Amino acid sequence: MSARSRIIGPYDEQRHALIAHLRSRGITDPDVLQAMDLVPRERFVQDFMRNRAYEDTALPIDDRQTISQPYTVALMTQALGVHDGMKILEIGTGSGYQAAILAAMGAKVITIERHPKLSAQARERLAALGLSAECRVGDGTIGYTGKAPYDGIIVTAGAPDVPEPLARQLSIGGRLIVPVGDLEQQTLYRVTRTADEAWNVEDLGPVKFVPLIGVEGWQADG
Ligand code: SAH
Repeated sequence: MSARSRIIGPYDEQRHALIAHLRSRGITDPDVLQAMDLVPRERFVQDFMRNRAYEDTALPIDDRQTISQPYTVALMTQALGVHDGMKILEIGTGSGYQAAILAAMGAKVITIERHPKLSAQARERLAALGLSAECRVGDGTIGYTGKAPYDGIIVTAGAPDVPEPLARQLSIGGRLIVPVGDLEQQTLYRVTRTADEAWNVEDLGPVKFVPLIGVEGWQADG
């Protein structure tokens, strides 16, 4: 092992290159870029895919799900406007990578996943990195009233409509980032709760996610 490879980890250069790429694609929030430069994405993909961890692409994980494309993670996190101490609910833990980014930015993270195995894997990975997030198993389309209201809610699966329980679990000024559309393609929405009964919706562009399955989402196909 060379002195250089001992000082810098095996993936550090690839990670820095990804950050430069995200910057060139218009990600400007320095806290998002810093968190993504800190969290080792190779720990959140399957072992045999580690050498692809810093490609700007979604990759398959267990249970026929995916870890989101880094650009999408950056875009959604930037749209959320994360700050230290912010309480954030994530729907769709998946690999745990998005939760890790939020936790690395100092947010208090509660993340819900419908597949128990993915949730358990994510919990282990986050703990190994010393990042704290509450990993829950269940149907996230109904949110989690136990810790509501939230300053931010991020849905990392595609919904047929904005799930109403999630919009209602936002604090005033809170933001919900959610992909809405059909099974093929979705539009990323930012829903901001401006008053008790008022929400403002912004269109952040096209995205593609695996389906959000649950009572306020798509039906499971078995
Ligand atoms: N945020 C993840 C991306 C995961 S892909 C990451 O960083 O890796 C979307 C995930 O949403 C899948 O794991 C899927 O099982 C989960 N999911 C789909 N519907 C759900 C629901 N109703 N509640 C919780 N999780 C759900």
